[in-house]
Amino acid sequence: MEILTPKNQFICDKCNKTILKPADGYVQWLINEDNQYYGFKVVHYKTNSNLKLKNLCVFYLNDPESKNLPLSKFTGESGLALMLNLLNEKSIKDKSRILDINEFIKFIRRLHISYYEQVNNIYNLKYIKNERSTLFPENLKHLLECANV
Ligand SMILES: [Zn+2]
Repeated sequence: MEILTPKNQFICDKCNKTILKPADGYVQWLINEDNQYYGFKVVHYKTNSNLKLKNLCVFYLNDPESKNLPLSKFTGESGLALMLNLLNEKSIKDKSRILDINEFIKFIRRLHISYYEQVNNIYNLKYIKNERSTLFPENLKHLLECANV
């Protein structure tokens, strides 16, 4: 098993194959009636799909409530700033812009905590989410190396 480059390579939520660099992916999500964001997915650009079939890596196909931005907007320090801004933003009726804070924190971890993306794909991290120490990069790296044998 090859270890993905932390914070630079990701796993497509549609085809489960590696997105080799941020420029090869985009982020798709949904908006509810209160203009709150949820259901964040990381997928290949249509043209970069490993499966070479048009639209195959679009997660919310033909969904009028879906939005998307290039993955590169969410990576790096500017990407983290964008995500923190969204966490802090208000929608209408003084509701949070982000519908599900736990879901969004997981999304931040996928893009900004080294090794989280790949470990999360191998193990079901929701069962160990209460073990705070597991979610540190050095421990995630260890889990990845254990999976590598
Ligand atoms: Zn894909």
